[in-house]
Amino acid sequence: MRIRPLVRLSFSCSRRMSGDRPASSAVKPSNVATQYQEQLFDSAAKGNVEHVLTLLKAVDVDAKNDRGWTALMFAARNGQVSVIKSLLEQGSSVNILNSSGQTALDIANFWNHSDASSALSDSTVVPTQECRNYYSVNPLNRASDRRKHPEWIDQAVKRDNTKFIVFSDLNPFLKQDPSVTSRKSKYILCLFSYKQLAEHIAKKPLLIFLGLETWDSESAVWFAVDVTGYEESKLKDVHNDGFFANPFPLTMQMDERHAGIFAEARSILTWHDRYSFCATCGSPTVVREAGYKRVCDNADCRSHKGIHNTCYPRVDPSLIMLVVSPDASRCLLGRKKSFPPKMFSCLAGFMEPGECIEDTCRREVEEESGIQVGRVEYHSSQPWPFPAVLMLGCITHAKTETIKLDNDDELEAAQWFTRPEVVQMITHQHPDGLFLPPKQAIAHQLIRTWVGNTSNL
Ligand code: ZN
Ligand code: MG
Repeated sequence: MRIRPLVRLSFSCSRRMSGDRPASSAVKPSNVATQYQEQLFDSAAKGNVEHVLTLLKAVDVDAKNDRGWTALMFAARNGQVSVIKSLLEQGSSVNILNSSGQTALDIANFWNHSDASSALSDSTVVPTQECRNYYSVNPLNRASDRRKHPEWIDQAVKRDNTKFIVFSDLNPFLKQDPSVTSRKSKYILCLFSYKQLAEHIAKKPLLIFLGLETWDSESAVWFAVDVTGYEESKLKDVHNDGFFANPFPLTMQMDERHAGIFAEARSILTWHDRYSFCATCGSPTVVREAGYKRVCDNADCRSHKGIHNTCYPRVDPSLIMLVVSPDASRCLLGRKKSFPPKMFSCLAGFMEPGECIEDTCRREVEEESGIQVGRVEYHSSQPWPFPAVLMLGCITHAKTETIKLDNDDELEAAQWFTRPEVVQMITHQHPDGLFLPPKQAIAHQLIRTWVGNTSNL
């Protein structure tokens, strides 16, 4: 069976990056998408690998129906091993839960498709896509070589196709994404041209070169500008629905690619806001390298000789870890006093100087919960732009089980949870109303990975 060559669907954000609205066409994109998606699920259920692969050119590999079922789940339900293998090779996630709290592996197990179960739990299948956490999806090419060419930066600022995003007191100017019609509102960065901000830019505000849209020499260039003190009404003349947003938690509901650009811009702007003086001699510093460096104004300062890290934007590595019980049947989650009531999450803590990831993980878990852990496996990372943290996500295996909270520490509770309980927490069906951080948080992804890998429990 061949599928009809329908309209090319754009699921990427490239359209949004250029700021254009989707062109109207005879076939409504949402209807076409639904049609392709249904064909994908049907082909996955029937075991038609070739058809599945063709449809994946138009449908996201992890697209879900209204009951939260993915193509992988339809293949699992019907024991379609070849389709399962192809979908995994295409980057399909084994960690997705449907609205009944089942993964594809749960479904294969329930229907006794043992070959499908082993295909789904086969760790030799290496997915083509790594876990990309929220705030980490930055589509810009940072082109760091350009930062050292102030003449190039000066002319790039004035190009017609250059895009500026603006911040006031570190708050980004956002608006609702007009292309999103779902119940949840989504936000995008308001984009400005040089002409629209020329009056302000002439006053030499803090300007950060964020990157290029492509490698092309004519590529649009992106900058972040500090507009603190500038009249908001002039910005609203361009975007009448724009507003300065409290970044947390509002930027958790952004277009994912804009969230990545926001993370870069805000972490750097916060650094400038806090590091106006030389850390070595206390003299004022001046901005260099298009916002990526601050150099001491004092010619005699020691910071001009040798290797120093005081001139560059800081990034603070922090560990976040899911601790799995010695018998691998439960995971350890804790509550900080500052969390919303009933929310549990992974343990976390900052790295200390001279410490490796593995030791930070072991030390933090023992300090906060009294549990000793052995092997540490790296999972994925997440920039956290409040102000400039890099979360390093790990899964680690406990050697002991007795929890002992440090009364002085910030954890008010920590306990072991079974997989069924965790599934209830993910799907907001826990009898006591316990829940987990949202999917934008790396903690959620770590927990989901464990749930996805433990359908035997
Ligand atoms: Zn100095
Ligand atoms: Mg700690």
